[in-house]
Amino acid sequence: AQPVLAVVGRPNVGKSTLVNRILGRREAVVQDVPGVTRDRVAYDAYWGGRRFTLVDTGGWEPDATGLQASVAAQAEIAMQTADAVLLVLDATVGATTTEEAVARVLRRSKKPVLLAANKVDDDRLLADTASLWRLGLGEPHPVSALHGRSSGDLLDAIIAAL
Ligand code: GDP
Ligand code: MG
Repeated sequence: AQPVLAVVGRPNVGKSTLVNRILGRREAVVQDVPGVTRDRVAYDAYWGGRRFTLVDTGGWEPDATGLQASVAAQAEIAMQTADAVLLVLDATVGATTTEEAVARVLRRSKKPVLLAANKVDDDRLLADTASLWRLGLGEPHPVSALHGRSSGDLLDAIIAAL
């Protein structure tokens, strides 16, 4: 079976847009409404001669336990079921307490974890993304899923981790 990469993160950070960018086609549902990807959806992806399965997670809307707990629970599931996890955050917002909580969960993972700082549409946000090292998830990868910026570098890192 091909390796599985789970994409996790708060609603509206651009997970589905990034999934589409990686797939090179528009399949994952992107909307301005936070939390629109209700279920976990798996796609076949291909890069650098490697095939892998990409799981776009959703359903991170705050439930009875709150957003932070539901996001952390998703990360826990991703960690158990995938071969590697990609945490996506919104670089225009930075790391919130939710990303800090998720990072705590993911740091316990024996599996590779990658960190993408999305919505870096231009150079102005590049300096800020360096501060994301403090999440303890390794090198932050600045990308713009919308414009395709640096998504090739992120894909190279994903392939190297899988
Ligand atoms: P998800 O809830 O994490 O799956 O986020 P979506 O992929 O549905 O995107 C949420 C919103 O962010 C949409 O309006 C996207 O167009 C927007 N978005 C996604 N990636 C980028 C990006 O790289 N730059 C900017 N400026 N907006 C983005
Ligand atoms: Mg989505």
